[in-house]
Amino acid sequence: MDSERYPFLPGLGGGLEIAGTEGSFLITPDGRRILDAAGGAIVASIGHGRTEVADAVAASMRRTTYVVPPFVTEERVALATRLQDDWLPGDVERCVFTSGGSDAADLAIRVARQHFVSKGEPSRHHVIGRALSYHGTTLSALDVGGHTKRKAAYAPLMQGPPKAPACYALRCELCDGTCSLACADGFEEAIAAVGAENVAALIVEPIGGSTAGALVPPEGYLRRVAEIAQRHGLLLIADEVMSGFGRTGAKFAVDHWEVVPDLLFGGKGLGAGYTSIGGVFARTSVVQPIRDAGDELMFYTFSAHPAACAAADKVLEIMSREKLVERAAVTGERLAERLHDAFDDHPHVAEVRGRGLLFGLELVADRATNAPFAASERLLPKVVAAGLANGAFFYPGGSPPAQDVVCLGPPFTISDDESDQLVSILAKAIDAAVANVASRRT
Ligand code: PLP
Repeated sequence: MDSERYPFLPGLGGGLEIAGTEGSFLITPDGRRILDAAGGAIVASIGHGRTEVADAVAASMRRTTYVVPPFVTEERVALATRLQDDWLPGDVERCVFTSGGSDAADLAIRVARQHFVSKGEPSRHHVIGRALSYHGTTLSALDVGGHTKRKAAYAPLMQGPPKAPACYALRCELCDGTCSLACADGFEEAIAAVGAENVAALIVEPIGGSTAGALVPPEGYLRRVAEIAQRHGLLLIADEVMSGFGRTGAKFAVDHWEVVPDLLFGGKGLGAGYTSIGGVFARTSVVQPIRDAGDELMFYTFSAHPAACAAADKVLEIMSREKLVERAAVTGERLAERLHDAFDDHPHVAEVRGRGLLFGLELVADRATNAPFAASERLLPKVVAAGLANGAFFYPGGSPPAQDVVCLGPPFTISDDESDQLVSILAKAIDAAVANVASRRT
């Protein structure tokens, strides 16, 4: 692969050449089949190559190309109605569509802010997030997130309030032995630091994405955070871009704990890789003050593109028809067993974590201390390269101190044989990368 050959930006092009995709596989121009163990960037939930989605997009495009987002089209109504009827938690029922996760995060932040401005509480503007989190690459999304690596270059543009701690059991120093949910109470401190009257919302990934790799909160955590938000009159925003639409074995990760957020946004699995689409979903009580005041939120030009809505509607129909959320839960448990069998005693795997079909494997130099490999050793890119050489794509995650995290998020349709293949290629890739690092030290 020659990164200079094509006119792309660094990091945004010049990688592996792919000629096509099919089922659980990526196919290279020379016909090699690479198991898509991460569904791309944890996206391809229903598997690749469903022609009925392509047909739905083609039919939509023949009917309607572009119309401004506020206009009503058949595809927009169908998708919003399906979400409201079959997918969204509790009384979250208002939908607005975006082109992906980052602009959905940005819009969710704007809705939260506008809610308070319209209600006559203009001092409320801070959105408090957590360490080791990621909500997207717009400046607002980066600001509320806690992905230090991705934020570093833009530090002068970031002005957010302090962050609450991550719920990161492997390295938790907040509690003495038994978990007291001190990580959730960390929100109280962050709120107090800027004054509750200046805070609009709290934002969490109910199950963490790739920043630290599939961090699952302790029992009671999300409910405690929801109580804190309610006590201070704040909105709770759930970022379900990675965890939503079945990925963790429930429709949304919040459903595992029966918490209904005020705002929820998603992306990735909504289009399952067939289209670029995200969405912000709100309780009516969140948008009502904006309506009552006659205020408006500016749309993105490509919000709710009819063809994207048609694709997403078909994706969700397939998920329901084939019971893929349930399948993600069952397949996830089986894959978890295989991963624990293969890696629980591995000298360089500190932890296999996750839920449903979202996993993170945190790699460390020393399991006794959980000390990471030196960043300069670039362990993770070596794991990914060895994975590709052996026939599987793994998604690189992690941000210090969870420095090297392999993220897994295969299609919900992955077969047992493919799961076995995934685990055996991953073991080979980790061992090859560790051996490579060791050989360079001597
Ligand atoms: N939020 C979470 C939890 C994510 O994992 C991501 C992307 O990885 C985003 C937001 C941003 O989404 P996008 O890359 O579609 O802009």
